[in-house]
Amino acid sequence: MKAPQIKKLKRAARRIKEKFSPRTLILLYHRVTELPTDPQLLTVTPAHFAEHLEVLQKYGQILSLRQLTLALQQGKLPDKTVVVTFDDGYADNFYHAKPLLEQYEIPATIFVAAGQIGQKSEFWWDELDRLFLQPGMLPDQGHLNIRGNTVKWEMGEAAHYDEQAFKTYRQWNITDNVDPSSRQKLYRLLFYEIRNLPNNERDEALASLQRWVGVDAVGRTSHHTLTKEELICLANSDFIEIGAHTVTHPILAALPLEKQATEIQQSKTSLESLLGFPVTSFSYPSGGRSDYMTATVTLTREAGFSSSCSAFAGYVYPHSDMFQLPRFVVRDWNKAEFSDRLVRWVNG
Ligand SMILES: [Zn+2]
Repeated sequence: MKAPQIKKLKRAARRIKEKFSPRTLILLYHRVTELPTDPQLLTVTPAHFAEHLEVLQKYGQILSLRQLTLALQQGKLPDKTVVVTFDDGYADNFYHAKPLLEQYEIPATIFVAAGQIGQKSEFWWDELDRLFLQPGMLPDQGHLNIRGNTVKWEMGEAAHYDEQAFKTYRQWNITDNVDPSSRQKLYRLLFYEIRNLPNNERDEALASLQRWVGVDAVGRTSHHTLTKEELICLANSDFIEIGAHTVTHPILAALPLEKQATEIQQSKTSLESLLGFPVTSFSYPSGGRSDYMTATVTLTREAGFSSSCSAFAGYVYPHSDMFQLPRFVVRDWNKAEFSDRLVRWVNG
């Protein structure tokens, strides 16, 4: 038999095995708040989040990530169970998500980028939103030097972005096929230019863009990440566990291995020294299959974590790699939409 046929047979055998295997699905949230712009679709409103939790409470088969990890280690995965996780460590997780998780008694793991704790600056993707997608004036032309290349752009009519234009386009997001003005074009262009840069080069690029726009590095309160005090209060909740999400939120695959190891190890040790107890789970920034390497997976295991989460869609089976647990991203769905998705996912 030829190699492609063997591969095909192996895939079919795996699908049959998975059809009859117990499965868990892990949900991935980022933010619980309301914002005027959300170009990365990271936000679920508090009202919708409460509805999601109501659906989950009724559904009933909820595990914490720690319980899931233990079940996988013991080879006893309870079927059709659901785990709730959050990435990044936004302050709204403390102000909006925590009270609701406690009210509905739903456990969640929150993966925190350790270097962002208590910072006044925004995450780099939020910074691009602050600089380009809010109403105001921008210079007519700009350029940025990235890794020896000069990226240039012209703003045209959208250099002046008034309240009316802002309102018209504020629902725009990165998954849209059309960029309605040079503001959205610039956001998209620089999002992909900056995405894979290491921390120091990314910060230099942002500082240069802040000078171009004429603003300082202090971010919006609506985009604050957790302070130390908020993180500690969050971790003290009976329903919340803190996991690590690197120090500077780089795309790990774009870094040399020793820098990856430092990002992974330091996020664990600095969170542990803040919290005073072991941090046993990790999630890969961005978390797509190409955002980390096989060697990165080994590094998270060697760092002493018990499990690591990815961000590509898929189920957790008894034979799943505990250091690449797939997750389903949750968007700002209302109760009916979330309920439909959950039913489809668990019965998948
Ligand atoms: Zn993240």
